[in-house]
Amino acid sequence: MRTAIVLFTRDLRVHDHPALHAACRDADRVVPLFVLDGAILDSRYAAPNRVAALLEALRDLRSSLIARGGGLVVRSGDLVEQVRMVATEVAADDLHLTADFSRHARRRERALEALGAELGVRVTAHPGVAVVEPGAIEPSGGDHFRVFSPYWRRWSVHPRRALVPAPERVPTPTSIPTGTIPSWTDLVDGQEAPDRLRTGGSVARERAAWWFEDPVQGYEEGRDELGHDRTSKLSPHLHLGCLSPNEVAARSDEHRSGREAFLRQLCWRDFNLQLLAANPDLPDEDLRSQGDRWRDDEDDLDAWREGRTGYPVVDAGMRQLQREGWMHNRARMLTASFLTKHLHIDWRAGAWHFMDHLVDGDLANNFAQWQWVAGTGTDSRPNRVLNPVTQSRRHDPTGRYIRRYVPELAGLDDRLVHAPWEGDDQLFSSADYPPPVVDHAEARDRFLAARGRS
Ligand code: FAD
Repeated sequence: MRTAIVLFTRDLRVHDHPALHAACRDADRVVPLFVLDGAILDSRYAAPNRVAALLEALRDLRSSLIARGGGLVVRSGDLVEQVRMVATEVAADDLHLTADFSRHARRRERALEALGAELGVRVTAHPGVAVVEPGAIEPSGGDHFRVFSPYWRRWSVHPRRALVPAPERVPTPTSIPTGTIPSWTDLVDGQEAPDRLRTGGSVARERAAWWFEDPVQGYEEGRDELGHDRTSKLSPHLHLGCLSPNEVAARSDEHRSGREAFLRQLCWRDFNLQLLAANPDLPDEDLRSQGDRWRDDEDDLDAWREGRTGYPVVDAGMRQLQREGWMHNRARMLTASFLTKHLHIDWRAGAWHFMDHLVDGDLANNFAQWQWVAGTGTDSRPNRVLNPVTQSRRHDPTGRYIRRYVPELAGLDDRLVHAPWEGDDQLFSSADYPPPVVDHAEARDRFLAARGRS
């Protein structure tokens, strides 16, 4: 009688889950386990939106496992100690998990290997968080890619892992207490976004089915349109692993139109993960220092956080974040660019504010993208400064996005809604909206001068 534990982390699904598949194939008894890890829950990483989303995904995972004759054992505390207790209780022979690549994840894996050696439990880490796992492709003469285009060329022709089906049966012993899944308010303080995106395997699969049914066809031309939902909104599901990125890539192969543009974004996700794997300090340290001396200005930082900069598209993005725990990619770029290049405030302050709210907030994607925008990362044009008004007119021509999130500007015409200060003063002050916190041209010049580019 062989007993295997499957330790879930951020791979909260039953479909295309190599670790679960291997356990169900090779063992007689399978114990799916999730540990509410004290080290993560006590850190700033545990923001209400993400903890609420995680618990939602766990409840869905438990239902999927129960439907297959199994269950989900939930424990909380020190992860390694909890695994030790469960492994001893069920006399485990094997422990399967999905490999992950942050510093915390790697330490966890090493600690579990040491535990396995001590208890005589064989520990196996499986692929599953990426389409192409970090390290699977490497540039000649280097251990990871620093530039996206050559990575994309290799990634797009790299053979993919075969999809594995969801197990038909998960033979979980009934003797082990499963434990309750708490409410997020029992775990963290703070507030959840009123319109937070919902997660969990079932919601994720429905969303993916809808997306690939048709909307993906319009992705290439629509992905930058701020005012219309023309992106997949799969990011929270991919972040929590409610969907397998490998399966999403396989589904997008079936669609010709929109496919390449969409796959390219999935490739960015893998690119960022291999950057984090090679640079565990990515969330803290510049990848390519520009010698920046960032400004320390709490008032400007607050105006940005609260969506009161006086630049409507920036404020709309920041308010979308507050309301939904999600932000459109173009708005993420504009708001991050505005903070770092117009206000000249450290990208770390902005990145952590995003982490406090994003349901999809992810160490690799968030911090690599922040560094990309700030010009301390992998962008080949690190000193580009996006003009928030030009960008707003281009990507939200009718002001639909701005009107949705900044209702006090709803009455302005399609020209002024992007730059209310260009209208007559009376209209502007009656709109109950702040004047620009900084002048675009002056801010741009100041930034370029600071980077030695005047
Ligand atoms: P789609 O456009 O439908 O793309 C499909 C999938 O591809 C996404 O779900 C996502 O998994 C991936 N993807 C798309 N764009 C990118 C990208 N630029 N980099 C990496 N992966 C991408 N994405 C996160 O998942 N988590 C984050 O914490 C995060 N922080 C960001 C911070 C900044 C400053 C910027 C500029 C971007 C950030 N992104 C982050 C990337 C991107 O904005 C989101 O992935 C995207 O907006 C999610 O929406 P979607 O699912 O509709 O994407």
